[in-house]
Amino acid sequence: MSEFTDHWALGKALVHRVEEWSGPFLTPQLLFAGFEPAAYAECKEAVPAAYLDAASDALQARLQSWVVEVDGQRVLIDTGAGNDKIRPGIPLFGGLQTPFLERLAVAGFAPEDIDLVVCTHLHVDHVGWNTQWVAGAWEPTFPRARYVFPLADAEYWDPRRSHLYPAKTGEAVNEGFFEDSVRPILEAGRAELVQGSVELLPGLRLDPAPGHTPGSTVITLESGGERAMFVGDVVHHPLQVWNPDWNSIFCEDPSQARATRRAVLERAADLEAVLVPAHFAGQHRTRVRRTPAGLRPVGLDGVGL
Ligand SMILES: [Zn+2]
Repeated sequence: MSEFTDHWALGKALVHRVEEWSGPFLTPQLLFAGFEPAAYAECKEAVPAAYLDAASDALQARLQSWVVEVDGQRVLIDTGAGNDKIRPGIPLFGGLQTPFLERLAVAGFAPEDIDLVVCTHLHVDHVGWNTQWVAGAWEPTFPRARYVFPLADAEYWDPRRSHLYPAKTGEAVNEGFFEDSVRPILEAGRAELVQGSVELLPGLRLDPAPGHTPGSTVITLESGGERAMFVGDVVHHPLQVWNPDWNSIFCEDPSQARATRRAVLERAADLEAVLVPAHFAGQHRTRVRRTPAGLRPVGLDGVGL
């Protein structure tokens, strides 16, 4: 345990969080397409300071990964921005030198301990540690792992197929990631491209959740009658629980992203699941409750998780 790693149990499974980066990231006015000042004024006071600086409107964000220990396997969900990447479209995540692997070791895992890597979707901040720069080449970071990528995203973001998808919202900000963090895995024969719903392991299922990207997925962990939903960027920030129609400016298909977000939040409420978004600061997870006034997060302050 440290400031950068922690863990919690879900039934017989264990979930370890490993943090790569933390900081403020934009304001609601800039991040959310569909932002409404009146709706923001109604809910902002209920958001703890760990998630939102009320004075400056700065949203707090994290890049973090989860290692799920389930069915005797170690599954790494999302791999952050990575070190040494060249990122002209988002300099914030370029040239990083973070001690992510040292933090993974603090959590108890060496790269060779990871059996399975799952990227909830293919975006610059979810694939970085798939590879590392070794002796002049991008090599798979996790030498034994098979890597699961959504097929729809692998097709959508492949620069060799860009003529098929000419109007990508995230084209500029995501420049470079496919060649340094996805193609080396494909060429090493280590990738498994999936579509539809897939049982990754007993107790761990992948379901499509398109909109943010065409291949976005939700990973559901079920153990001992409890559930956790790793939702990637279907939800970026707690404000979107109050306001499910607020997309991020990085969502590729706005109407589909809104429908998916609402459906995922409703499902989390129905299942009383722990919702684990990729970028939450604070407690890094929440639950969702249905109220007469709409959906509300539970546990942002750590109570009721
Ligand atoms: Zn993201």
